[in-house]
Amino acid sequence: MTGLSIHFNRRLKNSWYVKIIHGSERRELNIPHRLEDAPEPIKRALIEWATLPKHRRPELKRALRQRRRKLEELIRSVIDEQFPLPGRPEKTPFQKWPTGGCRYDLKEVFSSLNSHYFGNRLVSLLRWGTGATKTSYERTRKDAAGNPYHCITIAGVYNHPSVPRFAIESIMYHEMLHIHIPPRKEYGRTVMHGPDFRRLERAFPHYGAWRQWEKEQLCPLHTAVRRQRKKPFLQRLRNPEQGI
Ligand SMILES: [Zn+2]
Repeated sequence: MTGLSIHFNRRLKNSWYVKIIHGSERRELNIPHRLEDAPEPIKRALIEWATLPKHRRPELKRALRQRRRKLEELIRSVIDEQFPLPGRPEKTPFQKWPTGGCRYDLKEVFSSLNSHYFGNRLVSLLRWGTGATKTSYERTRKDAAGNPYHCITIAGVYNHPSVPRFAIESIMYHEMLHIHIPPRKEYGRTVMHGPDFRRLERAFPHYGAWRQWEKEQLCPLHTAVRRQRKKPFLQRLRNPEQGI
């Protein structure tokens, strides 16, 4: 190797690359401009990474690959820890599904519980589960910029005119609690409904009535919603208030 030149590139954020100048032994290492004052070991690691030789023999190739990976891990960890990119301001996620159901609007239910019990601190996307689904859930995902956001899905069976207000509130409250008390790892297991979660859940005024209602009504409701969906579209529109 006759030479390595280093370029501090203003357009690079947290990646780096090496350009091998064709027909010569020269290489050009491009690193983010903000790493100009990086600690000495990282500069050395970057230089070693850029000047790793090429080998044809498989055992040497494997060793080199491992070394390259080790260097990349080291460089990446320093960049992440000591040179984090300025965070983007938190955005309210984009709500792309309609929240209105045949009786309740999820947005309205969420907002009233948010102001009553959570000091308006919770932010979440909301959607109805499809068809006669019986499961509601909350998921935390990441957007393209890496910012986490929540999404609450309310079971499709709750989208029926006969569902009482306390039931839709209770199921929504349960899913909101998952944002308020995120899951945690305990002995390698994920605890979703720990004692703190259950205590707050039971403190909800309609908890008992809701559990009872679910036990008695969820199955007939499931059948009713499935039947409702089988009817021709126009008939479904004409009898929206049909009970279970
Ligand atoms: Zn749950």
